Amino acid sequence: MNTEFLTIGEIKKLLAEGKITCEELVSNALNRIKKHDHEIGAFLHVADDEALAEARRVDAARAAGEELPVLAGIPIAIKNNILVQGRKATAGSKMLENYEAAYDASVIRRLRAAGAILIGETNMDEFAHGSSTENSAFFTTKNPWNTSKVPGGSSGGSVAAIAAGFVPAALGSDTGGSVRQPAALCGVTGLKPTYGRVSRYGVIAMASSLDQISPCARTVEEVAELFSVIAGSDDKDATTVDKPHYFSFENIPNDVKGLKIGIPKEYFIEGMDENVKKAVLEAVELLKTNGAEVEEISLPHAEYGIAAYYIIMPCEVSSNLARMDGIRYGHAVDGKNLLDTYLKARGEGLGPEAKRRIMLGSFTLSTGYSDAYYKKALRVRELIRRDFEEAFKKVDIIVTPTSPSVAWDIGAKFNDPLTMYLSDIYTVTANLAGIPAMSIPCGFDQDLPIGLQMLAKPFDEESLFRAGKFYQTITDHHFKHPKL
Ligand code: GLN
Repeated sequence: MNTEFLTIGEIKKLLAEGKITCEELVSNALNRIKKHDHEIGAFLHVADDEALAEARRVDAARAAGEELPVLAGIPIAIKNNILVQGRKATAGSKMLENYEAAYDASVIRRLRAAGAILIGETNMDEFAHGSSTENSAFFTTKNPWNTSKVPGGSSGGSVAAIAAGFVPAALGSDTGGSVRQPAALCGVTGLKPTYGRVSRYGVIAMASSLDQISPCARTVEEVAELFSVIAGSDDKDATTVDKPHYFSFENIPNDVKGLKIGIPKEYFIEGMDENVKKAVLEAVELLKTNGAEVEEISLPHAEYGIAAYYIIMPCEVSSNLARMDGIRYGHAVDGKNLLDTYLKARGEGLGPEAKRRIMLGSFTLSTGYSDAYYKKALRVRELIRRDFEEAFKKVDIIVTPTSPSVAWDIGAKFNDPLTMYLSDIYTVTANLAGIPAMSIPCGFDQDLPIGLQMLAKPFDEESLFRAGKFYQTITDHHFKHPKL
């Protein structure tokens, strides 16, 4: 049976009805990866034997009449900055090329407990720095819709693995848009949960005050299911919050009647790609015709989002990457003395973008500059958070584009970091404010997917699921897929 592009729900049904075994499902996925991933480059490693053994265990448990957990037998791909015990955790860096994870991240423990099959680790920009996966130390992932285009980043591998029909779902991480933006560029659905929803224990940190592990899949329903499994407080991450996080998707109303949608007037201005703008506004119109109330809102400090993010994030990066010195972690080199050892290890192990961010962060944190840059950026971050707080007194969700354009040519922005940074314009503010945000497919421009972003108040993922569920009931962009 052909099993690519099935949703988690469809797979579960086929498994439960005995129309397919888990072993068949997993070997189909592995064969498809073998056949096509050389064109796409979604995976850094594929755990063939382990995945098949796990699949057989699920089949045996089912045959024995055992009660199976919620994701039993569902193949999931994992971004390679999330630790999976015994597997390489490279974070897309030469520095960690040979680093084997000593333990499972908390999200991985939860996925395992839910019966998911961890089929392999996906490519990413080095240490999650980037918007295209071109910063991976290993290779660039291609967009399955058009292999001359970037898939977005930094979770490009996870999202491409879904778009290419290798897996129904994956985990990525989102520090400034790294799940939402590739989801938009590859035509899948991706959720950045509220800061504190999902444990970061066992994630190779990029910027700890902004990072959230983020589920992606083709539909909102699958994303919500994955979210329910991985979210929740964890004593290994003191920033996690103990709040109810299990959403029964069935019980989420499938309508938008009375849902208040805010359109930020600062976002829909000159310079945005016309076709992206049109698709997003058409989606809003569709929700309005179905009973949503749409009003213009203002996020007056949003224009400083990129500037604040590209100061705060490198500061945190410079301190998080300090441990990558060849002694505590990573690429080890024998130097003449300690300093020489550090210089060589970091010089050889880290790529240009990581070095750029370490230098920017070290500079803006140094004496005399931290007040002018870092502390000022923190104040701007608070203003951005308050903008959202004010806006959410009036509306339930805010709608924007996810990315100002569709996927661009590989190489087009690679040598121009500033232009690359600007592509994060609509996504970074959610991380700065700690609020949940989700990207869903809302149309196409020149055969490339367009993503719509919805934002909600802290811990109100449910409003995103509601609007997304209804939108995906009345549209089918999310079910279109590229031909490989
Ligand atoms: N593109 C952004 C950056 O390069 C976001 C990265 C991320 O979310 N990990 O910082």
